[in-house]
Formats: sequence, structure tokens, C-alpha cells
Amino acid sequence: MTEELARVAGGPGLGQLPRRLAPSGMAQAICGFCSTGCNLKLHLKDGAAVNLSPDPNYPVNLGMACPKGWESLACLTASDRGTTPLLRATDGSRRPIAWSEAADVFTARFKDIQRRHGPDSVAWLGTGQITTEELAFLGALGKFGMGFRHGDGNTRQCMATAVAAYKQSFGFDAPPFTYADFEASDVIVLVGSNLCIAHPILWQRIQRNPHRPEILVVDPRRTETAMAASQHLAIRPKSDLALLYGIAHLLVAAERVDREFIAAHTVGFQQFRDFIRAFSPDRVASETGLTVGQIVRTADTIGRGRAVSFWWTMGVNQGHQATRTAQAIINLALLTGNIGRPGTGANSITGQCNAMGSRLFSNTTNLLGGRRFQDPADRSHVAMALGIPEDRIPRDDSWAYDQIVEGIRRGAVKGLWIVATNAAHSWIHQKDFREVLARLEFLVVQDMYFSTETAALAHLFLPAAGWAEKEGTFINSERRIGWIQKAARPPGDALSDFNIFRLLANHWGCGDLFRQWNSPESVFRLLQACSAGQPCDITGIRGYAHLAESGGIQWPFAASHTRDHLAEDTHPRERRLFTDGRFFTPDQRARFLFEDPSPSPEPPDAEYPFVLLTGRGTSAQWHTQTRTAKSALLRQLYPDRLYVEIHPDDARRLSLISGAPTCVQSRRGQLTATAFVTATVPRGHVFLPMHYPEVNQLTLPNFDPHSRQPGYKHCAVAIAAVHPQP
Ligand code: SF4
Repeated sequence: MTEELARVAGGPGLGQLPRRLAPSGMAQAICGFCSTGCNLKLHLKDGAAVNLSPDPNYPVNLGMACPKGWESLACLTASDRGTTPLLRATDGSRRPIAWSEAADVFTARFKDIQRRHGPDSVAWLGTGQITTEELAFLGALGKFGMGFRHGDGNTRQCMATAVAAYKQSFGFDAPPFTYADFEASDVIVLVGSNLCIAHPILWQRIQRNPHRPEILVVDPRRTETAMAASQHLAIRPKSDLALLYGIAHLLVAAERVDREFIAAHTVGFQQFRDFIRAFSPDRVASETGLTVGQIVRTADTIGRGRAVSFWWTMGVNQGHQATRTAQAIINLALLTGNIGRPGTGANSITGQCNAMGSRLFSNTTNLLGGRRFQDPADRSHVAMALGIPEDRIPRDDSWAYDQIVEGIRRGAVKGLWIVATNAAHSWIHQKDFREVLARLEFLVVQDMYFSTETAALAHLFLPAAGWAEKEGTFINSERRIGWIQKAARPPGDALSDFNIFRLLANHWGCGDLFRQWNSPESVFRLLQACSAGQPCDITGIRGYAHLAESGGIQWPFAASHTRDHLAEDTHPRERRLFTDGRFFTPDQRARFLFEDPSPSPEPPDAEYPFVLLTGRGTSAQWHTQTRTAKSALLRQLYPDRLYVEIHPDDARRLSLISGAPTCVQSRRGQLTATAFVTATVPRGHVFLPMHYPEVNQLTLPNFDPHSRQPGYKHCAVAIAAVHPQP
């Protein structure tokens, strides 16, 4: 910490930057990778975290962790950690600068763009990887302090569909489940989820289920999860919507529906029943590639189930009709009354460690606390809770991620601030996106590492602290808020994102607006006030110590402890929603929502005859690998080079052998990958793991109309052997 930084950060009204470090002994943290939200105890020695172990008493992971969790500390000591701000010169080189200069440049450049081009001309792209308090600070600073109109997060790439589906069907973005439901079901339906690999600890929770559950997996690929299923429905890609409607058709025809629940708690059943008449088993078999017998057996298993839980992840969320597909899953739960009871639910499993925090508190497409920018009462509540003038709060949602990208393309957006996401790797149709980024007058990237594909493009790089180098909270998939203690110091002059926001607020001249935002816990209290009266009301949490002693707390947890929508389970640490059948819509009824399936936007043809599927590779890899690639141990657990899975019959036909370099080409680009000949992919399909930077050179930019989430899972490609040049 330089003297200069302390001086700059300690400006009027801001006080000193908090630099609290957990005392020697043990600290606790929620894992910073996936949304499972495992608790990890950090072992401290001489003020530094030297080891970790999963907490056996935490209700999420019960003493377990996957390889990424075990190796969490390895990513903190990498040689490409940012230790000082970097400013790009006109010759392209980057030079280290002090934080005061960085904050001055940030302020001057963005203000200049705003002055010349108006309020739409600056935007930010955030993340689901930083703490809830930091997400809220970014959103509040951007919109209320700096006058940015548009900000979105990388959660658009993974969870926007679940948000849209829940909001429309339930009246609020409310995943209803608790992880104990994995252990209480007698039928578990996984749609587009390779749980074994993507959420290994949740798969372990299924293994603990004493009811010997039927496990049904809907996935075009024979994934690790599908191999362990009692029924694998290897559908044609993106025919899941037809399958789900076909299952509903059979359940209704066999009278295996919960008429009482439907009548008391839903709207739209008659219309849905009329709609699904068209989805006969013969039609669905022809569209999905399954047999009529498979479809009938699946419906029969669900219909006979005592407690059926439905779970989905990116195979559903990243499709061209994603929201309606998620709602087709929700419809099945409503139809059969499988919601609000142990072992049931229409359950979206989130991707990133704090995607759920982002969904409620990032101030992007929701006002803080899951409120609406368009609602005067909501704006007034938030203004009061934060002590800010109400006219600081915009009256409309932000542009979504893809709309911000299009704004840059047409010259409306000239300045962009990217926080903790590697967009130049992960955004769909990568070549186009990088060309779009190159049009920006000013790109700021705030990240742990100066070497990511995105940081390398920045005009200004701001070095950020990583997981366990700062304090705050994450919210996991089952709505559990968990506390992270600071257990290590960030390297060099890197600052927590929280302190970067404080510093920038001060330089921007809006520090007074954030006088109360002087520590993560003080922000947590502000967010509690924003949540008051909402379905996600957390006003009953008595601060971080309460979270620590309770094993995390699931929302809602209102001060009254008696919200209508919440009932205590026998296990007080597990809470599920809708136990009384009352939803968050104005009439407290859930909606049956549906729409005709439409063809995939880029079907295979003579020129590009294969369907490309993408997804997670191994449980040792995380997204764009900016962190997992730093661990020597994790690197031993996955192939170091990109590979493409291809069916043996296709490989034979094209003279491809395992281990040979193979060209995969789409209309947007081409790459070379090592062939991996395996029957886990169907004929006519290939699979690429998303973690390697080349993959999004091929993907097709298409977006679900309701959630605006990109459809990464399907496009047409050609493949061929790469022959050595003479
Ligand atoms: Fe748990 Fe996910 Fe972390 Fe693995 S990556 S330890 S499953 S939270």
C-alpha cells in the first residue's frame, strides 16, 4: 500500500480504506468458482492462508470439495497477477502507474466521452464472480454516481434464462429449492445438466439419497451424468422443448396430474392442455429422435413419482428458445404438483459463485433487491434506503449485454468498463466481438490478472484482489448467503474491487453519495434495507457473524421470520419456497407459459454437415481458465490442448483417428483440435469444451428473445483431418 493510495482513498467523507485481515488460526470462505457455494476453511499462518479444508459442518458441502475448491489458493500466487495499474501508451506498450493517476485517467476519459456523446456512450460489463457488496457498489456507482445508463454482467451468458423464466412463471426470480431436495426425491430429472462435472458436490448429494431415486438425464451427449442415469434421453439437440411438451401430453392423457394443486395455485392450465394435444408421442419421437417407448416410460416414471425434482443448467439456458424450455420444465412441476414439498421443484442450478447475488443486487436489469427501475415505489424505497436523491435512479432497465455490444458496433457506446470477466474469450462469435471492442475510444479492464485476453486489449488496467483477499458475501444456487473472510493480502498495490470503487467514487466527485458504503458489512446492511418487503427480504440477518454461526442463511429471512411464502422445514438450516402454494404473482398463482418450438437458427447442411455442441470439459476447469490454469495440479487433470469429440462412425468416414489434428470450421471461423473419437457424441455431432480460447471463434450469435441469453449450444460446422503440409 503506497502512501499516495492511502491519501487518495482517504478523501473527504470516505475515511480510511478497510484492510482487515482475519486473525491467525482459521478463516472461512465460500468457494469462488461455481454456484454450489461450498464452505472452505482457510488455515492461516503468520497472517497468510497456507492451506484449506472443506467444512464438514456446512450444510452445502458437508466436508466435500471438488478439485477446483481444493486448489483455490493456487490461483492467488500466479506470476501474472496485476500488482499496479497499467496505462497503454500510443505505441501500444503498457506502463505501470499509480492509483491516483489511474483514477484520474478513468475519470477524465469517461467524463469526456459522456460530455461529447451523451449518457448512452459509456457502459460496463460486470460479473457473477465478485461479492454481492461489490456488485451492488459497481451498480450503484455506475448508475447513481457516474451516470452510466447501461451495465450488464456475464451472468447474461449463463443465468438470464432462469431469471426470465422464474419472473414470468412465479412473479419473481425465485429458485424454489434447497439442496436437501437432492436427497429427498424418488425421481430426479436433469435437463441439459452434466452435474457430475459441472457441480460435482451436488452430484455427491444425489449419491447420498437413500430412496434409490430414478435418475433421468435429458442430454444429446452421453455425458458422465448420463452414463450414471437410469434413463438417458439422448435427444436431438434443441428438441428438448418438444420432448417436455410431449411428456406433459402423456401425463395429462393418463390423468397423472395434480388437479387440486392446478386449480388452487395456477393460471393457464386449460390453454396449456389444449396446446399440448398436438405433441403426440409419434410427433415427439420423430422430432427428438427417441422412441415412443422411451417417451412413454419417462412420462410414466414422472407420473408415478412421489417426490419428483426437475433440475436444469446451461443445456437449457443457452438455447434459442431457452426461456420457454425452462418454463416447459416449470410446467411439468406445476402439472404434477411437484413443488413446495421436500424432494420436488423446478430448479435452476446457477453457474458462477455469485450469479445469484448478481441477479438480485447488481443494479443492472433489476433495481437493487430485485426491484424494478420502472416502478416509482421501488425507486423511492431504494432512494430512502440508500439516502440518495430519487432522481439519481434511472427509470428504465439497462441494455442487455448483446445490446451494449451492438451499441458499440453502431458507435453509440464509446467507453466500456469490464470488471472481472474475460469477455474477449467468452462472448459468442469471438472474432466479431474483438473487432467491436477495437472500436472503443476507451476500454478499462479491472481484473486479478493483467494477461487475460480481455485485459490485454485494455487502454487502462486496474489490478484487483482475488477470492479470499477480501471480505463479503456470495449467494449460492439454493439462495444461501455465505460469508467470506479476508485471509490473504492482495499482491503489490492490487485493491479489492470494493476499494477500487471507493477510490473511483472519490475521484469522480460522487464520494459523498457513498459515504455510508465504507465497509462490505455496511453495504450488506444497506442491501438488507433495499430488500425489505421483497420476496428476497433479508432484513432478519444480524450481520456477518450471524451468517458465520448459521452455516449461511437462505433468503428470504425477513425480520419478522414469518413471511407468508416461507415455512421452516424440519431441518432449520434448509428452506424451500412455495410450501403454501402461494407464488409471487399479483394473484399468487403460478403461470403455465408455452410456445411452439421453432427450428434451430443454423441447422446443418451440405457445406456444414455437423452440429457443434459446447459445454464444460472437466471438473478441474473453470470457464476461461484464467484461474484454473494457474494450478499445476489442476493442469494435470485436463488435456492441455483443445480436443474435439467425434463419433467413431463419423471418424471412420472422414479418416480421422484419435490424437490426430482436426480442423473444425463454421461460417465464422475455424480452429484445429485434437480428435477424440468416442461414442459419447451422437453421429453427426461434435463436442468442444468451452474453456479453450478458440472455441468461440465458431459459435453463432443468436439470443433467446425473452432472456437475451446467447445460444452457445448449437451451430453448424464442418470437420476434416489436418494433413501435414508437403
Ligand atoms: Fe464446491 Fe463448486 Fe467450489 Fe467445487 S467449484 S468446491 S463444487 S463450490
